[in-house]
Amino acid sequence: MRLVTYDAGGGARLGALRADTVVPLDMVAPSMLALIDGGPQLLQKAHAELERATSTISLSAVRLLAPIPRPRQDVICLGMNYVAHAIESDRARGREPKLPEHPVFFTKAATTVCGPDDDIPLDPRVTAQLDYEVELAYIVGRGGVNIAREDALNHIFGYTIVNDVSARDLQNQHQQFYKGKSLDRSCPMGPWIVTADEIPDPMALGLRLRLNGEMRQNSTLGDLIFDIPTTLAVLSLGQTVEPGAIVSTGTPSGVGMGRNPPEYMRAGDVMEAEVDQIGVLRNRVVAAR
Ligand code: MG
Repeated sequence: MRLVTYDAGGGARLGALRADTVVPLDMVAPSMLALIDGGPQLLQKAHAELERATSTISLSAVRLLAPIPRPRQDVICLGMNYVAHAIESDRARGREPKLPEHPVFFTKAATTVCGPDDDIPLDPRVTAQLDYEVELAYIVGRGGVNIAREDALNHIFGYTIVNDVSARDLQNQHQQFYKGKSLDRSCPMGPWIVTADEIPDPMALGLRLRLNGEMRQNSTLGDLIFDIPTTLAVLSLGQTVEPGAIVSTGTPSGVGMGRNPPEYMRAGDVMEAEVDQIGVLRNRVVAAR
């Protein structure tokens, strides 16, 4: 199933896609988080409703929001999780390239999340170095602590696309990633969640980012340093991971910071973040007012 959170004029509602229409699922659950909390039984009900529903809304008549418009906690991210990106990042910062021996976790504030139709503000008073990062994100379904690597995929509810928009100057000057990764609307997400049953092998997915139509990033999840099961096993070590948590798995090489000379985004730029079997997340950069 492709699950969406949409607004047809009356606020955020849960739905599922059938071809290019939305089947409302608010009689199943009031929100994506409520659906996740309901576990496999509620997901089964959503499936049944999708099969049986006769009333649908044209996708062109709704505004898609982020699948989880306001997460319960900050978005958990992996840094330096592709070899070529780890090398380009170290070089850009004048450091000898060194691959991480353990997964590098950081977070983006929950307030950063925005949807597939949202514009990303660029305010020259805040940053001169706005950059893009296409990523596959997984949504935790069943929570837990000390989740075994072998069991990790069973804890995943579904997958979506995240563009980990980053203010490199803030990221570098504050030493810790949180500030440079947490500007308002710096976490476009969507356009939907594809449920885990439809992606049995997430490590086979390709992902890419086009800036104004030009291919800038192009890789596959098979290139991850720490694969998806490993990230969840390590994250949950002695630390409870709750249903609805969003974990973004890191970005491949090709970011603006890694170019020679570095190239950052300008107002008017259009980012298209794409992941196989999910779709395209398209957002425009606009001058902040
Ligand atoms: Mg990232």
